[in-house]
Amino acid sequence: MNIILLGPPGAGKGTQAKRLETERGMVQLSTGDMLRAAVKAGTPTGLKAKAVMEAGQLVSDAIVSGIIGERLDMADTETGAIFDGYPRTYAQAESLDALLSERGRKLDYVIELLVNEEALVDRVEGRFTCAKCGEGYHDKYKLPKVDGVCDVCGATEFKRRPDDNAETVRTRMAEYRAKTAPILPFYEAKGLVRRVDGMADIDEVTRQIAAVLDGQG
Ligand code: AMP
Repeated sequence: MNIILLGPPGAGKGTQAKRLETERGMVQLSTGDMLRAAVKAGTPTGLKAKAVMEAGQLVSDAIVSGIIGERLDMADTETGAIFDGYPRTYAQAESLDALLSERGRKLDYVIELLVNEEALVDRVEGRFTCAKCGEGYHDKYKLPKVDGVCDVCGATEFKRRPDDNAETVRTRMAEYRAKTAPILPFYEAKGLVRRVDGMADIDEVTRQIAAVLDGQG
């Protein structure tokens, strides 16, 4: 099964994608994570993307569709992929269709996480992750049980994204509204869109997504 999780920054796409990986053996394909890895490694793609990402703008369609295409050639994606943060433009949506059909695969669902944008700025600004295992935390909503120690792996280092500040978040939201939300009609026309309440608590969102994937949503 191949699905897209669609929603603005902070909607919970990454959190839910990680749960789907654990619970269903699907693979999370986050273009944001891939680009951050490229920036960290200092690859040519990373060098091109860094300033654009820091400004909260979109990296070029050719770059992101290129990295998704390479990723889809790896065997672990054959049984099911969760697209997280991709596609973000109409051109990317068309590329994804082509990339999947060239490989004899298809999209099963586009799950839109419905959210309140104002609440998201607060969610995004306070978030941080374990530097070792990637578990997500939040200054207000989810602190580690023991201060400074990851609940999952026990590591003591955490990291914050440079683009998770209020100003950049607003640019990212504006990019979402202007360029990403308009791809919904493309998928509506194919009958693939399902909606879940992204403001519900994390377990409830997981439950609603499971209902969709199990054909009850
Ligand atoms: P994310 O982790 O999904 O919030 O992405 C972080 C940043 O990476 C975005 O603000 C963009 O600058 C860039 N990015 C990630 N995915 C895409 C994409 N599909 N298209 C264009 N830029 C992207």
